[in-house]
Amino acid sequence: MHGEIGIIARFGLLSGLIEQEIIYIKEKEICCNGYGCYCDNLHKVDCKNGLTIIAIGWIMGNKKGISNNYSNTILEKVYNITKI
Ligand SMILES: [Zn+2]
Repeated sequence: MHGEIGIIARFGLLSGLIEQEIIYIKEKEICCNGYGCYCDNLHKVDCKNGLTIIAIGWIMGNKKGISNNYSNTILEKVYNITKI
C-alpha cells in the first residue's frame, strides 16, 4: 500500500493500535514536563536507538492503550499526515 493509507496501515500493524488510538496519539498534546508527570497529555520519550516510547494512558471500553515503542521514522510519518 502506498501513500498515507499505507503509512497508517503499517503503523497500525507494527504498533497494534486501532484507528481511534492512532488518531488519539496524533491529536493529543504532548506533555512538556517529562515522563513522570500525571497530567492528561501524552508522555513521550525519545530513545537514542531510534525508538520512541509513548505513554498513552487512554481507556476505551475494555481496551487500555498504555504505552508502546515506535520507530521514530514511521512515527514521524504518522505525525506528518494532515488527517487520518
Ligand atoms: Zn504530563
